[in-house]
Amino acid sequence: MQVAPNTVVSIHYTLTNDAGETIDSSADREPLAYLHGAGQIVPGLEQELEGKSAGDKLQATIPPELGYGQQIDAMVQEVPIDAFQGVESVEPGMQFQAQTEGGPLTVTVTKVENETATVDGNHPLAGETLNFDVEIVEVREASAEEVEHGHAHGEGGHQH
Ligand code: ZN
Repeated sequence: MQVAPNTVVSIHYTLTNDAGETIDSSADREPLAYLHGAGQIVPGLEQELEGKSAGDKLQATIPPELGYGQQIDAMVQEVPIDAFQGVESVEPGMQFQAQTEGGPLTVTVTKVENETATVDGNHPLAGETLNFDVEIVEVREASAEEVEHGHAHGEGGHQH
């Protein structure tokens, strides 16, 4: 069976950045299972996997625009410390969930100066070229429920 929309694909993968540092890997875990065509993985990798079968191995270099996007300056904002209610000490590296018009967004504190914190809502991998090393473990037809939910169920997928 080939990777196509509405198939569930299990992959082992290693993701490295251009400096050769491993950012993420499934090597010590069970393979990742995702629903193809549902936007569960970055668009560039989805394109590379289309039409492949179980047992296939591939290396893919994904530019930021087909990965996690470019850094957007407007996503970096200065916020008064007072806005962090219930947080004793706001420090660089802390992550918070911000409520935005587009839904919840994870922001990272990048700087604290005087009574102001700088927060960055860009994805940590925005602007990065993604180098994937992938092995396809299994390709199967998605169930009607998986298609309805927009994600894979079972091992390596979404656990309800
Ligand atoms: Zn589900």
